Amino acid sequence: MIVIGITGGIGSGKTTVTNLFAELGIEVVDADVIAREIVNPGTPLLEKITKHFAEHYHEDILDGQGNLNRARLREIIFSHAEAKNWLNSTMHPAIRDDILRQLAAAQSPYVLLSAPLLLENGLEKYCQRVLVVDIPEELQLARTQQRDDVTQEQVAAIIGAQMPRKQRLQKADDVIDNSGSPAALKDQVQRLHAQYRALA
Ligand code: ATP
Repeated sequence: MIVIGITGGIGSGKTTVTNLFAELGIEVVDADVIAREIVNPGTPLLEKITKHFAEHYHEDILDGQGNLNRARLREIIFSHAEAKNWLNSTMHPAIRDDILRQLAAAQSPYVLLSAPLLLENGLEKYCQRVLVVDIPEELQLARTQQRDDVTQEQVAAIIGAQMPRKQRLQKADDVIDNSGSPAALKDQVQRLHAQYRALA
């Protein structure tokens, strides 16, 4: 199975690009979606996390609907490094297992693994190629602010916490320049699709 890892900074256009590949019949495994789904209400993992935080911190980390209260969880792990380590070492293997299961089940000629933190979390080791969606920082700020109700400072803080653009580009096998029009983007996706099909 040929796996193409796709990543890029906030607002670079990963979702837009994966939607274009999906229109061409390519399956997309999304690490962010998996990270949310594995702690849906009723999952064994959510139960394990709830129990851990009740026993060790006397905290209820569920909201009124039984969903993981992410804001509360973030507050707790902000001031408890060991809680953060425990959470990461519990979540990461579960996310990885689900990613690998979904990749193995994919039926399209090749499959995309989409993750904003693909490189930061070492997921590129499951990929034959890494595709980076790239735009300059001014466009990241403008497009994210246009999409979400956030300030320039909030977007800048997220950009600052992600891998620097230059470093990300150094790790890329293929690059999509998404600073142009949607039509120019579609052209690049079609060209890469032909290239990836040839690999498969
Ligand atoms: P995040 O990491 O924040 O989830 P993302 O990388 O998935 O972001 P998108 O949501 O695909 O990025 O794109 C960010 C915004 O920019 C969206 O509102 C999208 O419609 C818009 N956009 C994407 N590509 C273009 C383009 N070529 N021209 C204009 N707007 C674009």
